Amino acid sequence: MISQFNIKYLKGVGPKRADILSKLEIFTLKDILFYFPRGYEDRRIFKKESDFEFIDVDIVYGEVVDFFEVYTSTSLRIFKIILKTLNSQVECNVFKKANRNYDVFLNIKKNLIKGTKIFVVGKAEDEFFKRKISVEEIYFPDDPDFNIHADRIVPVYSLTSGINPKVFRKLVFNACSQSEYVNEIIDSDILVSRGLISRSSAIKNIHFPQNVFSLKNAMKRLIYEELFLMSMAWNLKKSQTKNINKQRRYEIKKKLLTPFKNNLGFEFTDSQKKAINDIFSDMRNPYPMTRLLQGDVGSGKTVVAISACLLAVENSGQCCFLAPTEILAEQHYMTFKKFLDGLPVRFEILTSSTPKKKKHEIISKLASGDIDIIIGTHALIEKEVRFKNLVLAVIDEQHKFGVRQRATLRQKGENIDMLIMTATPIPRTLFLALYGDLDVSFLKDMPKGRMPVKTFHLSRQQALDKTLEFLKKGVQAYIVFPIIDESDKLEIKSLLSEYGRLKEFFKGYNTQMIYGRMKGSEKQKIMSEFAEGKIHVLCATSVIEVGIDVPNANVMVIENAERFGLASLHQLRGRIGRGKDEAYCFLVSESKDHQAMERINAICQSTNGFELSEKDAYLRGIGEIMGTMQHGDMEFKIASLSRDREIFEMVIEDVNKILKEDPYLTKKEHLALRKELNEIYGKKWNIIDLN
Ligand code: ADP
Ligand code: MG
Repeated sequence: MISQFNIKYLKGVGPKRADILSKLEIFTLKDILFYFPRGYEDRRIFKKESDFEFIDVDIVYGEVVDFFEVYTSTSLRIFKIILKTLNSQVECNVFKKANRNYDVFLNIKKNLIKGTKIFVVGKAEDEFFKRKISVEEIYFPDDPDFNIHADRIVPVYSLTSGINPKVFRKLVFNACSQSEYVNEIIDSDILVSRGLISRSSAIKNIHFPQNVFSLKNAMKRLIYEELFLMSMAWNLKKSQTKNINKQRRYEIKKKLLTPFKNNLGFEFTDSQKKAINDIFSDMRNPYPMTRLLQGDVGSGKTVVAISACLLAVENSGQCCFLAPTEILAEQHYMTFKKFLDGLPVRFEILTSSTPKKKKHEIISKLASGDIDIIIGTHALIEKEVRFKNLVLAVIDEQHKFGVRQRATLRQKGENIDMLIMTATPIPRTLFLALYGDLDVSFLKDMPKGRMPVKTFHLSRQQALDKTLEFLKKGVQAYIVFPIIDESDKLEIKSLLSEYGRLKEFFKGYNTQMIYGRMKGSEKQKIMSEFAEGKIHVLCATSVIEVGIDVPNANVMVIENAERFGLASLHQLRGRIGRGKDEAYCFLVSESKDHQAMERINAICQSTNGFELSEKDAYLRGIGEIMGTMQHGDMEFKIASLSRDREIFEMVIEDVNKILKEDPYLTKKEHLALRKELNEIYGKKWNIIDLN
């Protein structure tokens, strides 16, 4: 087994080099074979393809015409070799200072014979009428390693100090001679139908490709493989979860659910009903729920989550409801208050600004089981927060939390059910990569009577004038700024610098501001006054981005809209149009930036979060979106979700097909695949446990 073959036994390694290689996490023959190049140099004498992006390098292959040493005035020694190629003469310079291997070159000097051919690698320095190259490597055609380093496409690796690129390349070359020991892990009919080359041939060609065509084939195969393994792992994890017995059974008693429904004052939408059904049946399953509730901003996720909490509480369990910001936690708390009015449910809120005494009281009540539902922020994840019988965790706006926080929360109860909610619409492929282990419910339809927010790109003056018109009609408004303080970039309006002027402009109306750094209690006061309609204009930073819900606030001005990403703009705009009335969003931007304009146009034209997310993926690339989503745990060796979406689509289809026929990969032909999954995910991510 190549994964058991210790690297120190590879030809050319030994204990000392093995030590250096371990810094690159190379311990076995398999590790080095799967240590893929970061790029390639085209060192072929006759270059054929040009549709590939090579790392810059210059080569010369020619006949030695002359060689001699020169001493310059700065005591720099240069060894010069004059080469004759087909159509010119090239001066090859070996610098003493620049090249620590000068002694090596002096040796070469001994071996140089006029009239023989040599192969030089380096950097060209063009001078008028003269070709010059600053030499890095030299090879003789009878050199045994000639075909590793010269006249071919050569791999370039990210390395650590202590090992030079030439040595490493040769080690990989040696390793590749054993690549036939690499087991195939993908069914042969898939290889055929998807046009994929074998694993061992891909490994060989990813390091030492015959040509660009074979390199591309190798990449395709290995990209497929990486996505395939990930997808398999997620799916297996999902089915393994189903073997856990959570030792609690729920009964739908409706003692709390019915009065809650009556309190709402509206009917659930069809997709809310469906989501609630999905969730209830998950919660009643013997194994834990891990369900993602995805729905555009304003689609009504909160009441779905509350329903889940009530089922748990009806059955004497405790719930926690986690929100990413204090404002949002507070908002949820107010929603609970409103809809659970008169119901025998004990709920509390805990955030980092909860006074100490109150905090202790809440913590002890949670431990004794005297609180049914706790709403809060990250403060809930802290160690000291313990539960008597936590059965359900709701995580709102999941993208603001990391996978690790999800895991910590999970440990606060026994096989708890998890409901994760997100309004951040992400492209399907990215979604499956990030949340492949979750079941999903979508809220497709918006609550009845909701009208899409009308969005316009206006000048600042037009936007404020319009806003004033709406204020006169009794509508409340948000004015949103990208930054809070004056910045050195004068063209960007900041909350603090503009606040005074706005107060003046909206004279006669109550204009207030809110921003992240403000004290928690102050924020709460302002939010509740705004919710009660006492404040008419709320000037804010993007602290209001997530989850705020004030139905009478139907106008939003977004200053320097070019500074916000598409997802943020959509989230921000989602704060309005939450009631029955028409809502208007005015984007102010004088930017000439092409991408920014595309974003602004996109948001003016569409209110569909999924459409916008596809546009966003197109404009920014998925990689960048992922970067902002705190998923450091998602790292690919060779695949790229933005570039390889088509391949990923194939993978998803194939994985589903395989698992349908062999859900636990127990068939003999999947033995190698199982071993591979165990090696990669079994230990490192502790995702699956197959043996
Ligand atoms: P989000 O999905 O963005 O979290 P919320 O849960 O905050 O959305 O819901 C947005 C608003 O819509 C809230 O005021 C909520 O009370 C209201 N709402 C939720 N469901 C319905 C419904 N079926 N009919 C009418 N209004 C609803
Ligand atoms: Mg919400």
